[in-house]
Amino acid sequence: SKREGFSTIPNVKWEDIGGLDFLRKEFDRYIVRRIKHPEDYEAVHDRLIRAVHDKEWVGFIKVSHFQGFGVDLETGFLLYGPPGCGKTLIAKAVANEAGANFIHIKGPELLNKYVGESELAVRTLFSRARTCSPCILFFDEVDALTTTRGKQGGWVVERLLNQLLIELDGAEQRRGVFVIGATNRPEVMDPAVLRPGRFGKLLYVPLPSPDERGLILKALARKKPIDASVDLSFIGQMEACENFSGADLAALMNEAAMLALEDRLTSTETNLDAASFTIKSTHFEQAVGKIS
Ligand code: ATP
Repeated sequence: SKREGFSTIPNVKWEDIGGLDFLRKEFDRYIVRRIKHPEDYEAVHDRLIRAVHDKEWVGFIKVSHFQGFGVDLETGFLLYGPPGCGKTLIAKAVANEAGANFIHIKGPELLNKYVGESELAVRTLFSRARTCSPCILFFDEVDALTTTRGKQGGWVVERLLNQLLIELDGAEQRRGVFVIGATNRPEVMDPAVLRPGRFGKLLYVPLPSPDERGLILKALARKKPIDASVDLSFIGQMEACENFSGADLAALMNEAAMLALEDRLTSTETNLDAASFTIKSTHFEQAVGKIS
């Protein structure tokens, strides 16, 4: 399932993500609900058009569903922000929540092809996404594909970018295919790809606040044997964790688990059962010292 460009439904759930509620709400309304209840969006659209043609009374149309009112709902998104704060995780969770297929592409890998092959690869990806729709096409490090034309990369990037724009603009054929890009460097991206219908909706994924660090630790703890005495909110507030990203917190959690395991292995007590192997506050304290 890890082969480049192939689709699966990811197993990341929203509970695995700490904080970022704002993004969850945005993606719920822009992607998840549209995949799960397409009739709310598309049927209304058809009906409004028919109503206008027949000069029918349009009062019955559910105004909460807006597509029929000329509001085009965006299908392309750009997640930007510092590394390790959950961009990939969110994209996977959106696919999981929607029950959609997920295709993960790393920008630089598309570039590492022979001349001409990159464009073909882009076409193939979109056609594969259509075949397995509903589908989320995730472009990690998307800046590599769209660095302002004429700069580094030259005409290989230019041709690749043009192909990408052609595919992104084929919105009618893109039904059920949503595109999410991720980048740490939005400022180097060609403005042409940031227009509506392309990667039109920009969403910032920030470094976590102290409270959010606690939430991330709690999300990460779901799969770990944490001792009941450990206060993860308190650990999140610690000054030593300032400027930690989600990835740093995952490393912290892992280090604490390693230390707990080593304690367990070197323990002279013989009657320790698996249940008494837990990660304790002391392990977190030691781990913080190692990570920061
Ligand atoms: P990059 O820009 O480097 O690709 P990213 O923003 O895509 O980073 P992810 O790959 O989503 O970051 O996160 C890396 C790891 O950090 C995740 O696998 C997870 O363990 C942890 N992590 C990051 N953010 C969060 C979060 N908000 N909640 C829980 N875990 C997180």
